[in-house]
Amino acid sequence: MMTDKDDGIWACIIAYCGYFYNPKIGDPTQGIPAGTRFEDLPKEWVCPTCGVGTECFHSVES
Ligand SMILES: [Zn+2]
Repeated sequence: MMTDKDDGIWACIIAYCGYFYNPKIGDPTQGIPAGTRFEDLPKEWVCPTCGVGTECFHSVES
């Protein structure tokens, strides 16, 4: 099922990091354009703040 959560915000689980991935912004530091869903990030994408992979992120329910 497709839901509005598809473009939701994801948070890095690393406590001292505090980075949030916002699909409305993307990640210009790694060439990710605005509008890219978290699920569509390339496998090599890492947290721009602490360097962990996407497996270390969790969806933020709004
Ligand atoms: Zn992080």
